[in-house]
Amino acid sequence: MDIAADAVGREAAHLTELDSAIGDADHGINMQRGFTAVKAALESGTPDTPGAVLVLAGRQLISTVGGASGPLYGTLLRRAGKMLGDGTEVSRERLTEALRAGVEAVAQLGGAKAGDKTMLDALEPAVVALAKSFTAAREAAEQGAVATVPMVARKGRASYLGERSAGHQDPGATSAALLIAALAQAAADGGPGEAS
Ligand code: ADP
Ligand code: MG
Repeated sequence: MDIAADAVGREAAHLTELDSAIGDADHGINMQRGFTAVKAALESGTPDTPGAVLVLAGRQLISTVGGASGPLYGTLLRRAGKMLGDGTEVSRERLTEALRAGVEAVAQLGGAKAGDKTMLDALEPAVVALAKSFTAAREAAEQGAVATVPMVARKGRASYLGERSAGHQDPGATSAALLIAALAQAAADGGPGEAS
């Protein structure tokens, strides 16, 4: 979460710039507000288990982010955290299952599917690739985000633009790739399971 918060802080201006092309120019601000709250909540008392950390982080995102991305990312983390249960050690396999459930919850909440030019276009391939390795997940998320460029948005604010949404990378898919990269970094730094 610390690595994610730092990455979001570093990339906030870029995320907002992407959102200014096909949205309302607040995605970086939204993500920064959310992850600042996540960091503060964890500093004032880190829960004992990875699952509880994700649930707490998800709750912070839902309560502090005004935009669509807050409830969506919040739901992802809460559902994944609940799936992890109260284990103190999390293997990559269990994390993959938990994040898969979280991504399914995002699809259910937002009604989007692959190809709609949303965060799901980065998250879904990332979860599939996470079954192989953290590095594969990071690469799949990055490729998924880039693949949103030619897509026409069918969900969220960008869909109001119709065909004019094509030619721009989706801000949410871009932040999703950042978050998956943060996860891969945390694993490489000595997080759950093997770092590859
Ligand atoms: P808002 O659109 O309310 O201003 P943000 O700018 O923070 O919220 O987030 C926009 C991002 O949220 C989009 O780029 C997209 O990836 C994601 N998003 C929006 N609606 C949906 C949805 N229904 N399902 C999945 N992701 C969505
Ligand atoms: Mg926005």
